[in-house]
Amino acid sequence: MTDQVNFGDELVSPEEKTRRVGAVFSSVARRYDMMNDLMSGGMHRLWKDRFVNRVKPRPGEQILDMAGGTGDVAFRMARRGAQVTVSDINADMLEVGQERARTRGLTGLTWKVQNAEALNFDDATFDGYTIVFGIRNVTDIPAALREAHRVLKRGGRFFCMEFSSSDWPGFARIYESYASRVIPRIGKVVAHDEESYRYLVESIRRFPRPEAFKRMVAEAGFVRAAAEPMLGGLVTIHSGWKI
Ligand code: SAM
Repeated sequence: MTDQVNFGDELVSPEEKTRRVGAVFSSVARRYDMMNDLMSGGMHRLWKDRFVNRVKPRPGEQILDMAGGTGDVAFRMARRGAQVTVSDINADMLEVGQERARTRGLTGLTWKVQNAEALNFDDATFDGYTIVFGIRNVTDIPAALREAHRVLKRGGRFFCMEFSSSDWPGFARIYESYASRVIPRIGKVVAHDEESYRYLVESIRRFPRPEAFKRMVAEAGFVRAAAEPMLGGLVTIHSGWKI
């Protein structure tokens, strides 16, 4: 069948993928932040800091943080004075995010359940669109990129950070063995959910390499599409402009 898509290494219908991704994030929501620290040895914090340094949010700018989950990236941008809308398809992730925002005394963020493939925002609403470790989970990625382009104002910036496989041979081998053996085990012991973490590892392996994703960003209408790979492409910051 041609309309099947990958859920990790399995082929499923698009509806089934969206449903299962929802189940993964509902299952991990409460332990998501602790697991990120454990799995990356705290590195995700540095990657997110670097990402926000690239975005350079300015006071008063309207930024949509798509697939914003528990708010890590949104909080960093809000602290710089941007007006951030955090959107995610999963209400459980957003609920954890709202609790974290309250604990941190961060007010002024807007939270909205939205599917990145079909946004409920008017054309030309935002100055910036960010999506961090989110787009590989989206069923129809080209549709999400087109929506990102639509909701940005002219001159608006698109920024995405995502995992892929690394092309540094030695590092790729070490990472591959860590990811396929250790991460699902941490998931099993700490989050009592081996399957969700196996999906996360498989989805990283399947995400396009930086040059291929850069072409997808350009095909959605963005100009000056650029990719800044780190760790041989294991993590890449992508960007593009709407003119
Ligand atoms: N951006 C956050 C971060 O970096 O900590 C969360 C990333 S988390 C790995 C991926 C998020 O993508 C989840 O919260 C999930 O619900 C969300 N997601 C998956 N498919 C989506 C879709 N179609 N539209 C919006 N969000 C989606």
